[in-house]
Amino acid sequence: MTPALPVAPSPIQSYLDTLHRAFSGLSHGQVATYIPELAKVAPDGFGIVLATVDGHVYEVGDTRLPFSIQSVSKPFVYGVALEDCGRARVEQAIGMEPTGDPFNAISLEPGTGRPLNPMINAGAIAAAALVAGATEADRLARVLGALSAFAGRALDVDAAIFESERDTGHRNRAIGHMLRNYGIVDGDPEPALGLYFRQCAVRVDCRDLALMAATLANGGINPATGARAVRSEFIEPMLSLMTTCGMYDFSGAWVYNVGLPAKSGVGGGIIAVLPGQLGIGVYSPRLDERGNSARGVAVCQRISSDLGLHFLQPPRPSVATVRARYTLQGVRSKRRRTPAESRLLDGLGQQVEVFELQGDLRFATLEPVLRAIVAGSALMMVLDFKRVGHVDGGATRMLAGLASRCAALGQPLLLSRVRRGDLLAGLDGMLAPQAIRSVTFQPALDAALEWCERRLLARPAPDGAARAVLPLADSRLCRGLTADELVQLQAQLRRSQHESGSLIVQRGEPADALYLLSAGEVSVIVSLPGGGHKRLSTLSAGMVFGEAALIAGGQRSADVRADTAVDCWALSAEVFERLKLEQPRLAITLLHNLLATASETIGRLTAEVAALEG
Ligand code: GLU
Repeated sequence: MTPALPVAPSPIQSYLDTLHRAFSGLSHGQVATYIPELAKVAPDGFGIVLATVDGHVYEVGDTRLPFSIQSVSKPFVYGVALEDCGRARVEQAIGMEPTGDPFNAISLEPGTGRPLNPMINAGAIAAAALVAGATEADRLARVLGALSAFAGRALDVDAAIFESERDTGHRNRAIGHMLRNYGIVDGDPEPALGLYFRQCAVRVDCRDLALMAATLANGGINPATGARAVRSEFIEPMLSLMTTCGMYDFSGAWVYNVGLPAKSGVGGGIIAVLPGQLGIGVYSPRLDERGNSARGVAVCQRISSDLGLHFLQPPRPSVATVRARYTLQGVRSKRRRTPAESRLLDGLGQQVEVFELQGDLRFATLEPVLRAIVAGSALMMVLDFKRVGHVDGGATRMLAGLASRCAALGQPLLLSRVRRGDLLAGLDGMLAPQAIRSVTFQPALDAALEWCERRLLARPAPDGAARAVLPLADSRLCRGLTADELVQLQAQLRRSQHESGSLIVQRGEPADALYLLSAGEVSVIVSLPGGGHKRLSTLSAGMVFGEAALIAGGQRSADVRADTAVDCWALSAEVFERLKLEQPRLAITLLHNLLATASETIGRLTAEVAALEG
């Protein structure tokens, strides 16, 4: 029996426990008293929660103690206003400049009367006035729904806190009337004030705050529930204003010392967000002179410095974006090639460059790849996306630019294994019309390599002369035949020429001859049971098709279509029967070569099936 490991907390949990102990003695500051109900709050509650963007929660202290969200609601209701009215309308009503004034200052833009930002009361009341809904109850439901989606559980309003502020919030009421005076709020400001007082009285706990912050860090999707709380396009404006205005007249020092978009409330809560990584919630209701949780500020400052969370820290270098880089000279497709084709590819292969990419593509990771491409001299390029995670808008735009460059230079650009939805959706919209034809998407890297090989092989000979027909002796089928036998075989073959696009072999017809391709390309096409067709393989000069005719006879099982002008030699089943009697050595050599090719094909298929299952 394996001995049980002693239980020990995660280092992150231990860190938070230590932090909580270290700050538990810090008791300066006073609970807010200007809202009578807030004065009753137990002053020493203290909780710290850290939630990751994959929904893991570390918590210590009074993390389930309910308190009123107060101004921490402001960025979220601003997000609701953005969703309900759109950016332009919201920007018309609310500015985006820090005031450097306290939260309840009546700072309106001279002239327009527009509140300077949505994190001070004036801007928050203006945002509440923009929430959509036919009735007050609808608008409250909209706000509660949004806050609940961020928290990942149903939140409600603390009626006592609401009533207490409604009955005493004369200063906010004055702000509401100022907003009406300037036409920022239409008509009676009371409904907007009512909604604002209620949103401030929403009951949360410290864990809710951390999850709300983690939802912002996670692009608007609550990491615990997986549900979207706000459209991703509004995360940027919400976090920007939290960065510049979230901590009232302490915002500059906060960014300097802590460096995380944040929001505090007079209820004692603070949220802080590290985009893409985590959300922090701290609760401690004793406030400093600026109305921020005194202990909350100190804790956030310590966490940020201990864990290196300042958002302006240069990102650590990630893994190299180019996982592998090679040319077709070194690596080939799995497609079988004749010796003549292989020789040609040996000579031309370095004209095709392959970049296997990995990680997330954004400006900093894609730029070195583009630099390498521009410095190179490849005629065709394959970019493989198998191991690429996310491609951001900037990188997509640069890829569209690469496509334009390729189009201008006449270089094919192949993008293999791009997952739909990631890149494709964005890229389609960004490609310039002339760039579209230079881009080819390939479902497999091997298909992309084969595409390039075909292009190289199809290129006309340098002197412009038509490509020579492959001599019979160079084909796999004739390997091992003596010169005499070759002459005898040649005499039995019938020349068969086909135009590009024509059907050479048709499914269902009697299988009465084998074809040896001496110039051009053909595709073997099968019809699928559910309708439609699938290309099974493409064959080029030196290869054989319809060989079942010599072995099993019966009917053709697939169509074979000429992809280019095609030259073949046909060996009829009837002639072959005669050869078996008159030239047994010749016939055996042909059968031996057919069998060797067939077992190679089986080997390749086996490897493919194994790879599929792996
Ligand atoms: N309801 C509070 C007020 O308007 C919110 C202030 C705050 O949390 O900063 O006074």
